[in-house]
Amino acid sequence: MPESLTDRTTCHQCQHTGTKKLSKCASCHSVTYCSQDCQREDWARHSDNCVPAMITEYEGKGRGLVASRDIKMGELIFNDTAVITMLNPNGRAYEDNRKFLMDQIGKLSEEQKAQFYSLMPHKEYANIGILEELKIFSGNSKPLGDDERIFLNLALINHSCSPNATFGKLQDLEDDNNNAESHQSPSRSLQAGLSSLFAAFSFSSPSVNPKKMKIELRAVKEILKGEEITICYLDVVDSRETRTDRKNILRDEFAFVCKCKVCLGEIRPNQDDTLKRILYLRRSLRVDAHNVRMEERMRQALQVEKILQLVQQLNVCRFEAKLDACYALARMAHLARDLELRQKALDAWKELVDNSGFEQMRLDFEEFEEFLNRWSRQFNSKRSPTGEEVNFFCLKKLNHF
Ligand SMILES: [Zn+2]
Ligand SMILES: [Zn+2]
Ligand SMILES: [Zn+2]
Repeated sequence: MPESLTDRTTCHQCQHTGTKKLSKCASCHSVTYCSQDCQREDWARHSDNCVPAMITEYEGKGRGLVASRDIKMGELIFNDTAVITMLNPNGRAYEDNRKFLMDQIGKLSEEQKAQFYSLMPHKEYANIGILEELKIFSGNSKPLGDDERIFLNLALINHSCSPNATFGKLQDLEDDNNNAESHQSPSRSLQAGLSSLFAAFSFSSPSVNPKKMKIELRAVKEILKGEEITICYLDVVDSRETRTDRKNILRDEFAFVCKCKVCLGEIRPNQDDTLKRILYLRRSLRVDAHNVRMEERMRQALQVEKILQLVQQLNVCRFEAKLDACYALARMAHLARDLELRQKALDAWKELVDNSGFEQMRLDFEEFEEFLNRWSRQFNSKRSPTGEEVNFFCLKKLNHF
Protein backbone atom coordinates (compact mmCIF):
# COMPACT_ATOMS: atom_id res chain seq x y z
CA MET A 1 0.00 0.00 0.00
CA PRO A 2 1.39 3.46 -0.82
CA GLU A 3 2.70 5.58 2.09
CA SER A 4 0.56 8.38 3.47
CA LEU A 5 1.59 11.92 2.62
CA THR A 6 3.50 13.54 5.51
CA ASP A 7 5.04 16.97 6.04
CA ARG A 8 8.50 15.43 5.27
CA THR A 9 10.10 17.12 8.28
CA THR A 10 10.18 13.96 10.40
CA CYS A 11 12.26 10.80 10.07
CA HIS A 12 9.89 8.00 9.15
CA GLN A 13 11.69 5.56 11.45
CA CYS A 14 12.79 7.39 14.63
CA GLN A 15 10.45 10.41 14.38
CA HIS A 16 13.48 12.73 14.74
CA THR A 17 12.47 16.29 13.82
CA GLY A 18 15.64 18.28 14.62
CA THR A 19 17.58 20.60 12.35
CA LYS A 20 19.40 17.72 10.69
CA LYS A 21 18.74 17.45 6.97
CA LEU A 22 16.58 14.45 6.08
CA SER A 23 17.07 12.33 2.97
CA LYS A 24 14.38 10.81 0.84
CA CYS A 25 14.10 7.19 -0.25
CA ALA A 26 15.92 7.51 -3.58
CA SER A 27 13.55 5.21 -5.40
CA CYS A 28 10.11 6.51 -4.46
CA HIS A 29 10.65 9.92 -2.74
CA SER A 30 7.68 9.02 -0.51
CA VAL A 31 9.47 8.80 2.83
CA THR A 32 12.30 10.68 4.58
CA TYR A 33 14.98 9.48 7.01
CA CYS A 34 17.55 11.10 9.27
CA SER A 35 20.20 8.45 8.55
CA GLN A 36 21.01 5.36 6.52
CA ASP A 37 20.56 3.27 9.65
CA CYS A 38 16.98 4.47 10.00
CA GLN A 39 16.30 3.73 6.36
CA ARG A 40 17.74 0.24 6.70
CA GLU A 41 15.67 -0.47 9.80
CA ASP A 42 12.47 0.65 8.07
CA TRP A 43 13.13 -1.26 4.83
CA ALA A 44 11.28 -4.45 5.80
CA ARG A 45 8.15 -2.36 6.29
CA HIS A 46 8.69 0.20 3.50
CA SER A 47 9.77 -2.19 0.71
CA ASP A 48 6.14 -3.13 0.02
CA ASN A 49 5.16 0.54 -0.07
CA CYS A 50 8.11 1.79 -2.12
CA VAL A 51 6.05 3.24 -4.98
CA PRO A 52 6.16 6.80 -6.39
CA ALA A 53 2.73 7.68 -5.00
CA MET A 54 1.36 8.71 -1.61
CA ILE A 55 -2.13 8.63 -0.12
CA THR A 56 -3.65 12.00 0.60
CA GLU A 57 -7.05 13.64 1.09
CA TYR A 58 -8.62 15.53 -1.81
CA GLU A 59 -11.32 17.97 -0.88
CA GLY A 60 -14.71 16.79 -2.08
CA LYS A 61 -13.28 13.49 -3.38
CA GLY A 62 -11.97 11.69 -0.32
CA ARG A 63 -8.70 9.81 -0.50
CA GLY A 64 -6.57 9.80 -3.60
CA LEU A 65 -2.99 9.25 -4.74
CA VAL A 66 -0.45 11.98 -5.35
CA ALA A 67 2.82 11.52 -7.27
CA SER A 68 5.78 11.73 -4.88
CA ARG A 69 8.20 12.42 -7.75
CA ASP A 70 8.05 12.95 -11.52
CA ILE A 71 6.85 9.80 -13.27
CA LYS A 72 7.67 9.17 -16.93
CA MET A 73 5.16 8.04 -19.54
CA GLY A 74 5.06 4.24 -19.47
CA GLU A 75 6.69 3.97 -16.05
CA LEU A 76 5.33 1.38 -13.64
CA ILE A 77 3.59 3.00 -10.65
CA PHE A 78 2.71 -0.25 -8.89
CA ASN A 79 1.50 -3.81 -9.33
CA ASP A 80 -1.61 -4.90 -7.49
CA THR A 81 -3.29 -8.23 -6.85
CA ALA A 82 -7.03 -8.76 -6.59
CA VAL A 83 -7.92 -9.70 -3.02
CA ILE A 84 -11.60 -10.36 -3.76
CA THR A 85 -13.00 -11.76 -7.00
CA MET A 86 -16.68 -12.20 -7.75
CA LEU A 87 -17.10 -14.51 -10.74
CA ASN A 88 -19.87 -13.27 -12.98
CA PRO A 89 -21.89 -11.56 -10.20
CA ASN A 90 -24.50 -10.51 -12.77
CA GLY A 91 -25.42 -14.12 -13.36
CA ARG A 92 -25.75 -15.09 -9.73
CA ALA A 93 -28.36 -14.74 -7.01
CA TYR A 94 -27.95 -12.20 -4.22
CA GLU A 95 -27.59 -14.94 -1.60
CA ASP A 96 -24.77 -16.59 -3.58
CA ASN A 97 -22.96 -13.31 -4.00
CA ARG A 98 -23.36 -12.47 -0.34
CA LYS A 99 -21.96 -15.78 0.79
CA PHE A 100 -19.13 -15.75 -1.75
CA LEU A 101 -18.11 -12.23 -0.75
CA MET A 102 -18.18 -12.90 3.00
CA ASP A 103 -16.14 -16.11 2.51
CA GLN A 104 -13.43 -14.12 0.75
CA ILE A 105 -13.44 -11.27 3.26
CA GLY A 106 -12.98 -13.90 5.96
CA LYS A 107 -9.74 -15.01 4.27
CA LEU A 108 -8.17 -11.51 4.15
CA SER A 109 -5.33 -10.58 6.48
CA GLU A 110 -6.15 -8.10 9.26
CA GLU A 111 -4.40 -5.32 7.34
CA GLN A 112 -6.31 -6.11 4.14
CA LYS A 113 -9.58 -6.21 6.06
CA ALA A 114 -8.86 -2.79 7.52
CA GLN A 115 -8.08 -1.50 4.02
CA PHE A 116 -11.27 -3.00 2.61
CA TYR A 117 -13.48 -1.50 5.32
CA SER A 118 -11.89 1.92 4.85
CA LEU A 119 -13.14 2.08 1.24
CA MET A 120 -16.22 4.17 0.44
CA PRO A 121 -19.48 2.25 -0.03
CA HIS A 122 -21.42 2.92 -3.23
CA LYS A 123 -23.24 6.18 -2.50
CA GLU A 124 -26.35 5.30 -4.44
CA TYR A 125 -27.08 2.36 -2.15
CA ALA A 126 -26.56 4.23 1.10
CA ASN A 127 -30.17 3.79 2.20
CA ILE A 128 -30.81 0.33 0.82
CA GLY A 129 -31.03 -2.54 3.25
CA ILE A 130 -28.35 -4.79 1.86
CA LEU A 131 -25.12 -6.04 3.25
CA GLU A 132 -22.66 -3.19 3.93
CA GLU A 133 -19.83 -5.28 2.44
CA LEU A 134 -21.70 -5.52 -0.87
CA LYS A 135 -22.07 -1.74 -0.93
CA ILE A 136 -18.30 -1.38 -0.42
CA PHE A 137 -17.61 -4.03 -3.04
CA SER A 138 -19.82 -2.49 -5.69
CA GLY A 139 -18.44 0.98 -4.99
CA ASN A 140 -14.86 -0.12 -5.62
CA SER A 141 -14.73 -3.20 -7.81
CA LYS A 142 -13.21 -3.23 -11.29
CA PRO A 143 -14.69 -5.45 -13.98
CA LEU A 144 -12.45 -7.54 -16.18
CA GLY A 145 -14.66 -9.55 -18.46
CA ASP A 146 -17.76 -10.69 -16.58
CA ASP A 147 -15.97 -10.82 -13.27
CA GLU A 148 -15.61 -8.05 -10.72
CA ARG A 149 -12.55 -7.62 -8.56
CA ILE A 150 -11.28 -5.55 -5.68
CA PHE A 151 -7.70 -4.30 -5.89
CA LEU A 152 -7.01 -2.50 -2.63
CA ASN A 153 -4.44 -0.06 -3.99
CA LEU A 154 -6.13 0.58 -7.31
CA ALA A 155 -9.32 1.36 -5.38
CA LEU A 156 -7.57 4.43 -3.92
CA ILE A 157 -7.27 6.14 -7.29
CA ASN A 158 -9.82 8.77 -8.28
CA HIS A 159 -11.40 9.27 -11.68
CA SER A 160 -10.47 11.85 -14.30
CA CYS A 161 -11.93 12.29 -17.77
CA SER A 162 -8.35 13.02 -18.84
CA PRO A 163 -6.49 10.36 -16.82
CA ASN A 164 -2.70 10.16 -16.51
CA ALA A 165 -2.59 6.44 -15.68
CA THR A 166 -4.29 3.19 -16.56
CA PHE A 167 -4.01 -0.45 -15.59
CA GLY A 168 -3.53 -3.67 -17.53
CA LYS A 169 -3.60 -7.35 -16.76
CA LEU A 170 -0.39 -9.21 -16.03
CA GLN A 171 0.00 -12.75 -17.26
CA ASP A 172 -0.10 -15.29 -14.52
CA LEU A 173 2.21 -18.21 -15.09
CA GLU A 174 -0.07 -20.58 -13.22
CA ASP A 175 -2.95 -19.69 -15.52
CA ASP A 176 -6.15 -21.39 -14.46
CA ASN A 177 -9.34 -22.24 -16.28
CA ASN A 178 -11.61 -20.14 -14.14
CA ASN A 179 -11.00 -17.06 -16.21
CA ALA A 180 -11.29 -18.69 -19.59
CA GLU A 181 -14.89 -17.58 -20.06
CA SER A 182 -14.20 -13.98 -19.14
CA HIS A 183 -11.48 -13.53 -21.78
CA GLN A 184 -14.02 -13.61 -24.56
CA SER A 185 -16.45 -11.21 -22.95
CA PRO A 186 -16.83 -7.75 -24.38
CA SER A 187 -15.87 -4.97 -22.03
CA ARG A 188 -18.56 -3.35 -20.03
CA SER A 189 -18.84 -0.22 -18.01
CA LEU A 190 -16.12 -0.18 -15.39
CA GLN A 191 -18.60 -0.73 -12.63
CA ALA A 192 -21.73 -2.80 -13.08
CA GLY A 193 -24.75 -1.55 -11.22
CA LEU A 194 -25.73 -3.20 -8.00
CA SER A 195 -28.85 -4.53 -9.70
CA SER A 196 -26.69 -7.45 -10.76
CA LEU A 197 -26.22 -8.44 -7.18
CA PHE A 198 -29.97 -8.74 -6.76
CA ALA A 199 -30.36 -11.08 -9.72
CA ALA A 200 -33.07 -13.52 -8.79
CA PHE A 201 -31.58 -16.48 -10.60
CA SER A 202 -28.35 -18.38 -10.49
CA PHE A 203 -26.58 -20.40 -13.17
CA SER A 204 -24.30 -22.28 -10.87
CA SER A 205 -23.03 -22.16 -7.36
CA PRO A 206 -19.92 -20.00 -6.94
CA SER A 207 -17.86 -22.75 -5.42
CA VAL A 208 -14.67 -22.23 -7.45
CA ASN A 209 -11.74 -20.58 -5.80
CA PRO A 210 -10.76 -17.85 -8.27
CA LYS A 211 -7.15 -17.16 -9.04
CA LYS A 212 -5.80 -13.91 -7.76
CA MET A 213 -5.47 -11.71 -10.82
CA LYS A 214 -2.52 -9.30 -11.02
CA ILE A 215 -2.52 -5.94 -12.72
CA GLU A 216 0.06 -3.23 -13.41
CA LEU A 217 -0.65 0.47 -13.09
CA ARG A 218 1.41 2.63 -15.46
CA ALA A 219 1.63 6.29 -16.34
CA VAL A 220 0.13 7.06 -19.77
CA LYS A 221 1.38 10.66 -19.68
CA GLU A 222 4.25 12.45 -18.01
CA ILE A 223 3.16 12.95 -14.39
CA LEU A 224 4.76 15.73 -12.37
CA LYS A 225 5.59 15.51 -8.69
CA GLY A 226 2.58 16.72 -6.67
CA GLU A 227 0.06 15.89 -9.40
CA GLU A 228 -2.86 13.63 -8.58
CA ILE A 229 -2.64 10.17 -10.17
CA THR A 230 -5.92 9.37 -11.90
CA ILE A 231 -7.55 6.65 -13.97
CA CYS A 232 -10.74 6.85 -16.04
CA TYR A 233 -13.66 4.90 -14.55
CA LEU A 234 -15.58 5.01 -17.81
CA ASP A 235 -15.70 2.36 -20.46
CA VAL A 236 -13.42 2.95 -23.43
CA VAL A 237 -16.44 3.85 -25.53
CA ASP A 238 -18.14 6.01 -22.88
CA SER A 239 -14.95 7.96 -22.43
CA ARG A 240 -15.37 9.27 -25.97
CA GLU A 241 -18.78 10.81 -25.25
CA THR A 242 -19.11 14.56 -24.79
CA ARG A 243 -18.81 16.27 -21.44
CA THR A 244 -22.55 16.25 -20.67
CA ASP A 245 -22.89 12.55 -21.56
CA ARG A 246 -19.93 11.64 -19.37
CA LYS A 247 -21.32 13.66 -16.50
CA ASN A 248 -24.61 11.76 -16.69
CA ILE A 249 -22.96 8.35 -16.89
CA LEU A 250 -20.72 9.13 -13.92
CA ARG A 251 -23.67 10.43 -11.91
CA ASP A 252 -25.96 7.50 -12.73
CA GLU A 253 -23.49 4.65 -12.50
CA PHE A 254 -20.90 5.90 -10.07
CA ALA A 255 -22.96 8.36 -8.04
CA PHE A 256 -20.56 11.30 -8.15
CA VAL A 257 -20.27 14.60 -9.93
CA CYS A 258 -17.00 14.70 -11.82
CA LYS A 259 -14.67 17.43 -10.63
CA CYS A 260 -11.72 16.56 -12.83
CA LYS A 261 -9.77 19.32 -14.54
CA VAL A 262 -11.66 18.84 -17.80
CA CYS A 263 -15.09 19.02 -16.14
CA LEU A 264 -14.04 22.03 -14.06
CA GLY A 265 -12.93 23.76 -17.25
CA GLU A 266 -9.26 23.92 -16.20
CA ILE A 267 -8.09 21.98 -19.26
CA ARG A 268 -8.99 23.69 -22.51
CA PRO A 269 -10.31 23.08 -25.04
CA ASN A 270 -12.72 20.49 -23.63
CA GLN A 271 -12.57 18.67 -26.99
CA ASP A 272 -16.33 18.19 -27.30
CA ASP A 273 -16.20 19.13 -30.99
CA THR A 274 -13.60 16.45 -31.69
CA LEU A 275 -15.59 13.91 -29.67
CA LYS A 276 -18.77 14.74 -31.59
CA ARG A 277 -17.00 14.26 -34.91
CA ILE A 278 -15.68 10.87 -33.80
CA LEU A 279 -19.14 9.77 -32.69
CA TYR A 280 -20.62 10.95 -35.98
CA LEU A 281 -18.04 9.01 -38.01
CA ARG A 282 -18.46 5.88 -35.91
CA ARG A 283 -22.20 5.82 -36.25
CA SER A 284 -22.20 5.13 -39.99
CA LEU A 285 -19.63 2.32 -39.87
CA ARG A 286 -20.68 -1.25 -40.65
CA VAL A 287 -17.53 -3.04 -39.64
CA ASP A 288 -18.90 -6.58 -39.48
CA ALA A 289 -21.05 -6.47 -42.63
CA HIS A 290 -20.70 -9.38 -45.06
CA ASN A 291 -21.01 -9.20 -48.86
CA VAL A 292 -19.69 -5.67 -49.05
CA ARG A 293 -18.10 -4.44 -52.27
CA MET A 294 -14.37 -3.77 -52.01
CA GLU A 295 -14.81 -0.07 -52.87
CA GLU A 296 -17.14 0.20 -49.88
CA ARG A 297 -14.65 -1.58 -47.62
CA MET A 298 -11.97 0.89 -48.70
CA ARG A 299 -14.28 3.84 -48.09
CA GLN A 300 -14.96 2.55 -44.58
CA ALA A 301 -11.27 1.96 -43.93
CA LEU A 302 -10.56 5.58 -44.86
CA GLN A 303 -13.31 6.67 -42.48
CA VAL A 304 -11.66 4.68 -39.67
CA GLU A 305 -8.37 6.37 -40.58
CA LYS A 306 -10.05 9.73 -39.98
CA ILE A 307 -11.32 8.48 -36.62
CA LEU A 308 -7.80 7.40 -35.67
CA GLN A 309 -6.42 10.83 -36.56
CA LEU A 310 -9.04 12.48 -34.34
CA VAL A 311 -8.57 10.04 -31.46
CA GLN A 312 -4.82 10.67 -31.55
CA GLN A 313 -5.52 14.34 -30.77
CA LEU A 314 -7.65 13.52 -27.74
CA ASN A 315 -6.68 14.22 -24.17
CA VAL A 316 -10.15 13.46 -22.94
CA CYS A 317 -10.31 9.70 -23.17
CA ARG A 318 -8.84 6.54 -21.83
CA PHE A 319 -5.46 5.63 -23.24
CA GLU A 320 -7.06 2.39 -24.43
CA ALA A 321 -9.29 4.35 -26.82
CA LYS A 322 -6.17 5.15 -28.90
CA LEU A 323 -5.19 1.51 -28.97
CA ASP A 324 -8.72 0.58 -29.93
CA ALA A 325 -8.67 3.03 -32.85
CA CYS A 326 -5.40 1.56 -34.19
CA TYR A 327 -6.86 -1.92 -33.89
CA ALA A 328 -10.02 -0.88 -35.74
CA LEU A 329 -8.01 0.60 -38.60
CA ALA A 330 -5.70 -2.42 -38.84
CA ARG A 331 -8.70 -4.74 -39.17
CA MET A 332 -10.57 -2.58 -41.67
CA ALA A 333 -7.50 -1.99 -43.82
CA HIS A 334 -6.79 -5.72 -43.77
CA LEU A 335 -10.30 -6.56 -44.96
CA ALA A 336 -10.04 -3.80 -47.58
CA ARG A 337 -6.67 -5.34 -48.67
CA ASP A 338 -4.80 -2.06 -48.32
CA LEU A 339 -1.22 -2.73 -47.29
CA GLU A 340 -0.16 0.89 -46.78
CA LEU A 341 -3.09 1.78 -44.55
CA ARG A 342 -2.73 -1.44 -42.57
CA GLN A 343 0.96 -0.71 -41.97
CA LYS A 344 0.11 2.81 -40.84
CA ALA A 345 -2.28 1.37 -38.24
CA LEU A 346 0.28 -1.20 -37.08
CA ASP A 347 3.01 1.45 -36.75
CA ALA A 348 0.79 3.71 -34.64
CA TRP A 349 -0.31 0.74 -32.54
CA LYS A 350 3.28 -0.48 -32.01
CA GLU A 351 4.33 3.00 -30.92
CA LEU A 352 1.61 3.05 -28.24
CA VAL A 353 2.61 -0.42 -27.07
CA ASP A 354 6.30 0.55 -26.86
CA ASN A 355 5.66 3.87 -25.12
CA SER A 356 3.22 2.54 -22.55
CA GLY A 357 5.02 -0.63 -21.50
CA PHE A 358 1.89 -2.69 -20.76
CA GLU A 359 2.48 -6.42 -20.98
CA GLN A 360 -1.03 -7.36 -22.11
CA MET A 361 -1.05 -4.66 -24.80
CA ARG A 362 2.18 -6.05 -26.24
CA LEU A 363 0.80 -9.60 -26.21
CA ASP A 364 -2.37 -8.42 -27.96
CA PHE A 365 -0.28 -6.73 -30.64
CA GLU A 366 1.89 -9.80 -31.19
CA GLU A 367 -1.15 -12.03 -31.37
CA PHE A 368 -2.70 -9.77 -34.00
CA GLU A 369 0.47 -9.92 -36.09
CA GLU A 370 0.15 -13.70 -35.99
CA PHE A 371 -3.43 -13.46 -37.23
CA LEU A 372 -2.26 -11.34 -40.14
CA ASN A 373 0.27 -14.03 -41.03
CA ARG A 374 -2.41 -16.66 -40.84
CA TRP A 375 -4.57 -14.74 -43.29
CA SER A 376 -1.73 -13.44 -45.51
CA ARG A 377 -2.66 -15.61 -48.51
CA GLN A 378 -6.18 -14.17 -48.57
CA PHE A 379 -4.80 -10.65 -48.06
CA ASN A 380 -2.31 -10.97 -50.92
CA SER A 381 -4.96 -12.41 -53.24
CA LYS A 382 -6.69 -8.98 -53.05
CA ARG A 383 -9.99 -10.83 -53.23
CA SER A 384 -13.00 -9.90 -51.17
CA PRO A 385 -12.88 -11.53 -47.71
CA THR A 386 -15.17 -14.47 -47.00
CA GLY A 387 -17.75 -14.36 -44.23
CA GLU A 388 -15.42 -16.53 -42.18
CA GLU A 389 -12.59 -14.02 -42.44
CA VAL A 390 -14.84 -11.05 -41.68
CA ASN A 391 -16.15 -12.82 -38.58
CA PHE A 392 -12.66 -13.79 -37.51
CA PHE A 393 -11.44 -10.21 -37.53
CA CYS A 394 -14.60 -8.56 -36.27
CA LEU A 395 -15.52 -10.84 -33.38
CA LYS A 396 -12.04 -11.01 -31.91
CA LYS A 397 -11.62 -8.74 -28.88
CA LEU A 398 -8.33 -7.58 -27.50
CA ASN A 399 -7.55 -9.30 -24.21
CA HIS A 400 -6.57 -5.99 -22.71
CA PHE A 401 -10.15 -4.90 -22.26
ZN1 LIG B 1 15.74 8.49 12.04
ZN1 LIG C 1 10.89 4.04 -1.24
ZN1 LIG D 1 -14.46 14.81 -15.64
